[in-house]
Amino acid sequence: MKSPSSPSREAHRQRCQRLVDSLAAAPDDIRLGKDTSNLFRSRVALNTRSLDVRDFTSVLEVNPKEGWVDVEGMTTYEDLVAATLPFGVMPMVVPQLKSITIGGAVTGIGIESSSFRYGLPHESVIDMDILTGDGQIVTASASNDCSDLYYGFANSYGTLGYALRLKIRTVPVKPFVELTHHRFESPERNFEALGQFCEDPEVDFVDGVVFGDQEHYVTTGRFVDHSPQPPSDYTWMKMYFKSIREKQRDWLSVEDYIWRWDTDWFWCSKNVFAQSTLVRVLAGRERLNSVTYQKIMRWNDRTGVMRSINRWRGVHTESVIQDVDIPIQHACEFLQFFHREIGIKPIWTCPTKPLDPAANFDLFPMNPETLYVNFGFWDVIKTRDAMPAGHFNRLVEAKVRELGGLKSLYSDSFYKEDEFWALFDGKSYRALKSRYDSAGRFKDLYQKCVLRV
Ligand SMILES: Cc1cc2nc3c(=O)[nH]c(=O)nc-3n(C[C@H](O)[C@H](O)[C@H](O)COP(=O)(O)OP(=O)(O)OC[C@H]3O[C@@H](n4cnc5c(N)ncnc54)[C@H](O)[C@@H]3O)c2cc1C
Repeated sequence: MKSPSSPSREAHRQRCQRLVDSLAAAPDDIRLGKDTSNLFRSRVALNTRSLDVRDFTSVLEVNPKEGWVDVEGMTTYEDLVAATLPFGVMPMVVPQLKSITIGGAVTGIGIESSSFRYGLPHESVIDMDILTGDGQIVTASASNDCSDLYYGFANSYGTLGYALRLKIRTVPVKPFVELTHHRFESPERNFEALGQFCEDPEVDFVDGVVFGDQEHYVTTGRFVDHSPQPPSDYTWMKMYFKSIREKQRDWLSVEDYIWRWDTDWFWCSKNVFAQSTLVRVLAGRERLNSVTYQKIMRWNDRTGVMRSINRWRGVHTESVIQDVDIPIQHACEFLQFFHREIGIKPIWTCPTKPLDPAANFDLFPMNPETLYVNFGFWDVIKTRDAMPAGHFNRLVEAKVRELGGLKSLYSDSFYKEDEFWALFDGKSYRALKSRYDSAGRFKDLYQKCVLRV
């Protein structure tokens, strides 16, 4: 365990001071300067200055006995997990992609297969230091003077301030995870079973995949001390998502379980041809990961290569890259709508339930009594006829609202402004903005997430 008075604390303090000075000297329209990002909406204006936070990547202290880790805000989960596993613990919820950072997941909403038990990453924050738009570093916890910021930070996407340090809860791990893939033909039976698995105290992880309207899987995982066979390896030639249909039972090391979706970006590696055997051999294990795919997608976004090819082929496209949370009682209805109107497959499903029923995170309000199912779908819809901008995304937004669900804002959104603030608690947000960014140095949430300015 690292000591709280270790040199890393002092270095952290110095980095904080440098950042306070940089922010004071910076122009108003500023963005975070990082090497990686998992955002899927590009800014309209690209010439903004950035605040260099690339050195906020240290794990300051791991305390397995008390069950927490103290970490700098731009630390990737890859580094965070690597620092905690040797102590026999992991963060309560680890998003699937290695380059997602702790600050990004807390402010931008994350989820994983332990969320049915521990909620979303922001729910396991004990306290955090935030550099606000007003240029101060404040500590926010559930019970201190800045509890409004603690509860208002999730889903604020850096528009109130930047988390520079976070103390988050951890849970003990065992060396292996035993997986069982349960297949269901009907959606009713699938979601009924999903709900039941979430009640089972023996189960440590629950998620699932819908491959077709009659092919649903729920995968349960539990920590085990031993694997009865050499654990599987999906970090190169074999693909985890394919194994779900091929095996009923499987074993992975805890680390490989945590990153099982990263190698193939769930299944989205197909978009960069990385599911071909030849490409996998040539790319090698090190390049098959979400960071590589992000770089390729961003290059494509910048150069417009696919856009030109599609235009030449006379095809109209719309990216539908979304994660939505739907109360489980409406999961079947959402899925029926989705197959009928959107048609992307596969679809990732992941249950989540608020960790503390008394907590209310203003900008991402969830019913504490309800189990939600996250549906993740990430693809491009191609049509011969030109559709109005955002046609398919709008359909999703409307259905999610009708069913009392919530949509993540990491990708494109098309909400009207009044509709947006009704969903994401405009009143609380305005109060937070005037307390922590009174001069409006950062964009507001609507400008950033919908208008993309
Ligand atoms: C295809 C795809 C699949 C995804 N799947 C999952 C998933 O399965 N599970 C999951 O948990 N999440 C998933 N996400 C969402 C992801 O967790 C969020 O987009 C998250 O915000 C990304 O974090 P990042 O560290 O990459 O942040 P960035 O992309 O760098 O930033 C995201 C936003 O957060 C702000 N921000 C970043 N760091 C901080 C900070 N320290 N303080 C304040 N604001 C900050 C930035 O200004 C920006 O607005 C997915 C995203 C994509 C694109």
